[in-house]
Amino acid sequence: MAYDDGNVFARILRGELPCKKVYESDFALAFHDINPQAPVHVLVIPKGRYVSMDDFSAQAGAAEQAGFLRAVGETARALGLVDGGYRILANHGRDAHQEVPHLHIHIFAGRPLGPMLDGGSLPPDGSFRRG
Ligand code: 5GP
Repeated sequence: MAYDDGNVFARILRGELPCKKVYESDFALAFHDINPQAPVHVLVIPKGRYVSMDDFSAQAGAAEQAGFLRAVGETARALGLVDGGYRILANHGRDAHQEVPHLHIHIFAGRPLGPMLDGGSLPPDGSFRRG
């Protein structure tokens, strides 16, 4: 999938749309999600033009990858989340319901976060049907 320079996170990076910034480095920007799913819901995005984790992990250089991962940890520390705990999540593609085609890692925190995936486990017979 080609990178779309009109996506909302590209526009935030260019300063065309506002965001509630939490952390910024040479490699990444972190800001509050516009529609929070937990008391703390922050997005960390790389500054480079990457559609998703697939794209980023294949194409980004070592310094970019390390800088982005470090930014996730720095953001969580800046928010004071280390003691209470937090969850990180990145959606890639259709089955994961990725909405914005610029790589982002969600950080959720501020309450017990429950099971890892909505809907819990597979049916008892182990079957799986695509929705
Ligand atoms: P995805 O489903 O792609 O993993 O998550 C996209 C996230 O981006 C959603 O949680 C959504 O609320 C958030 N989002 C979409 N548009 C904007 C925006 O303009 N500003 C901010 N701060 N968050 C946005």
